[in-house]
Amino acid sequence: MNILVTGGAGFIGSHLVERLIKDDEVTVMDNFSSGSLENLKNLNVNIIHHNVIDKRTLSGFDQIYHLASLASPIFYQKNPVETALSNSVGTYNLLVEAQKHKSRILFTSTSEIYGNPLEHPQKEDYWGNVHTIGIRSCYDESKRLGETLMSDFNREYGVETRIARIFNTYGPRLNSGDGRVVCNFIVSALKNEPITIYGDGKQTRSFCYVSDTVDGLIKLMNSDYMKPVNIGNPNEMSIMELAKKIKELINSKSEIVFKELPEDDPVRRCPDITKAKEVLGWEPKISLEDGLKRTIEEFKKD
Ligand code: UDP
Repeated sequence: MNILVTGGAGFIGSHLVERLIKDDEVTVMDNFSSGSLENLKNLNVNIIHHNVIDKRTLSGFDQIYHLASLASPIFYQKNPVETALSNSVGTYNLLVEAQKHKSRILFTSTSEIYGNPLEHPQKEDYWGNVHTIGIRSCYDESKRLGETLMSDFNREYGVETRIARIFNTYGPRLNSGDGRVVCNFIVSALKNEPITIYGDGKQTRSFCYVSDTVDGLIKLMNSDYMKPVNIGNPNEMSIMELAKKIKELINSKSEIVFKELPEDDPVRRCPDITKAKEVLGWEPKISLEDGLKRTIEEFKKD
């Protein structure tokens, strides 16, 4: 197959590309705003240096994975308009091409579409609790619109669409300056510098190792299921527990310090993955401890 991966030079994108090139011809489209060529080194791929926001005629692909978007809160909040457009206009541009060439297209949506969830754990049929004009809305709301466009292109034009709602993912190739919690904690712990928790650390997240996330994406793309599917690890933990676990694995002397919780930071997040188990036969395989050890080893090399 001929496959296009937008955002293929990024964290999850490059792991996906690495898997896909074993069987398929892969083209990466990336504007390298947060991704890097380094992530694709030694991988046999075609590269289109392009921003998905700008319309572009594509040759026909059998499958399109749309991952291009800033995803770390500190970065998407510095570039909110760009972020909002990557997931809305970018998705539209790709859908037009998918319709023209009869490509199957998968949109990487997010757990963020549930906002600060009032239902727990989050099932796909929960509609969410999102602040439309908050500092996270450029990401949350544009992912929601992306899902809408996918669904309407399917209903109106019969485009073969797939929607993955990815929960917090971690692993090697997360950029050390990425700003998300797993990298921040590992980077600080390795230097024995203070680990900064925002808020009181009681907020929860559920962390999925990147190879599991990639497996889920590939299985979803190749399934017949058109509605959204949660792709995440239901192993929920508090941010304080995560800090302690990382300290312990690194044997670090870092102290834990506290900073103010950013606006609209979700209090709890955990996927219900019943749907993924039923329709994809997928569930995560890598334990947090194993995944963190692998990630820490990579960070030590930097
Ligand atoms: N967080 C933290 N310290 C950090 C970075 C993040 O305490 O150095 C917290 C953040 O406030 C949030 C959680 O960790 O509650 C996960 O943050 P992240 O940016 O990784 O992703 P999110 O799930 O919020 O999009």
